[in-house]
Amino acid sequence: MPIDATRPYDDENVFAKILRDEIPSRRVYEDDYAIAFHDINPQAPTHILVIPRGRYVSWDDFSANGSDAEIAGFVRAVGTVARAAGLVAPGYRLLANTGIDSGQEVPHLHVHLFAGHGLGPLLV
Ligand code: C5P
Repeated sequence: MPIDATRPYDDENVFAKILRDEIPSRRVYEDDYAIAFHDINPQAPTHILVIPRGRYVSWDDFSANGSDAEIAGFVRAVGTVARAAGLVAPGYRLLANTGIDSGQEVPHLHVHLFAGHGLGPLLV
């Protein structure tokens, strides 16, 4: 069920539990601002999710209310994950679903990092 990006943060959402290590994930990166882990239902040969450590529902919430340090740290983390995975030369795609019409399901900001053969053009 898609979520409303203007709702308050829910500390029991699945990514909050992953951040607290209450449920497992295949973590590939972590620093002071972000963690990254493999999506459990990959939509491309490489499908990693990068999430901020802070309590932000969506891209909208984060861009409006995140501190400059959090925003800079998160953006750098996304780039670092892609670089560490060797994805810069072959290329990759970033996506942040935000709110109902996008189909956002998990109410904690996450950036999808897709890579691999045959991503194809982005269709909306
Ligand atoms: O952008 P959206 O909210 O639709 O994406 C949520 C993503 O979180 C899905 O790709 C889903 O497979 C992933 N997921 C996950 N681990 C969970 C729950 C959801 O990787 N425990």
